[in-house]
Amino acid sequence: MRRIVALSGGIGGARFLRGLRRAAPEADITVIGNTGDDIHLFGLKVCPDLDTVMYTLGGGIHEEQGWGRAGETFAVKEELAAYGVGPEWFGLGDRDFATHIVRTQMLAAGYPLSAVTEALCRRWEPGVRLLPMTDDRVETHVLTDDGDGGRKAIHFQEYWVRLRAEVPAHAIVPVGAEQAEPAPGVLEAIGAADVVLFPPSNPVVSIGTILAVPGMREAIAGAGVPVVGLSPVIGGAPVRGMADKVLAAVGVEPTAAAVARHYGSGLLDGWLVDTVDADAVGAVEEDGIRCRAVPLLMTDLDATTDMARAALALAGEVVNP
Ligand code: GDP
Ligand code: CA
Repeated sequence: MRRIVALSGGIGGARFLRGLRRAAPEADITVIGNTGDDIHLFGLKVCPDLDTVMYTLGGGIHEEQGWGRAGETFAVKEELAAYGVGPEWFGLGDRDFATHIVRTQMLAAGYPLSAVTEALCRRWEPGVRLLPMTDDRVETHVLTDDGDGGRKAIHFQEYWVRLRAEVPAHAIVPVGAEQAEPAPGVLEAIGAADVVLFPPSNPVVSIGTILAVPGMREAIAGAGVPVVGLSPVIGGAPVRGMADKVLAAVGVEPTAAAVARHYGSGLLDGWLVDTVDADAVGAVEEDGIRCRAVPLLMTDLDATTDMARAALALAGEVVNP
């Protein structure tokens, strides 16, 4: 498996990719990153998931937090707050600001996001080719209650970060996705891949948003190579974060088997569940998806590397049953 394509959200995807890079040091890894979480703040274009992948693989991530820069300071944010300028709920640090300034400047000069991402990665040398899913603007919105008996759509970051997914989500809408095109290199990478991996990223607002770009799902399903995913849900709950809330919004139970069924056998050939979910293996296989139970907690790089190896081994099994 020399050419690997992995879709990725932020923390879950980025951490997995670190293990993947070590499990397959000789491979060409192309990462297709979610941009549905992108947001304009203070006039700057912020791409949280692309940056989390870039910082994590480039060694600049705040390890414990899982997002943002290590050794971060918040002078700019404090100064903005002193002017009464928010939002105060989105944590942008001084070091991180520089990334968004460079990105915004390049976009304003006419470079597409894919070229900007490549330029930013020249500094970070993530050891993978990081592509945004699209150069077009896609923004995930969440349909929630407006407090007056009606409904309103809010930006995903407002729902996730400001409201901590504590208000009911009735629908998740990747606004703009229908008109979006895969970024240059995306379909080519999928077409040339030996395997496509779905890391344990959020199935709805990370992987689901990437799959919502027209042509993406068809390219992956039609590539004629194994597609293997790893469950972000262990023992009936997401390992970290509030993925259960957005799963509920699309009518999917927070179980490893239900997430596999949500992707479906038309897309997924193999699925890894955690050992605590070993009793789900039968149900997933009945759905036509080859399934194995292995430890899926990314506690350290060794454990994460083993997960990546298991995913590649399962892909091999799908090819040579
Ligand atoms: P985000 O964009 O930062 O939310 O990151 P992703 O979408 O890439 O990943 C979020 C998902 O990662 C969450 O649903 C978590 O359940 C999952 N996750 C985080 N840590 C682990 C882990 O150690 N093991 C597994 N299996 N999933 C994890
Ligand atoms: Ca994200």
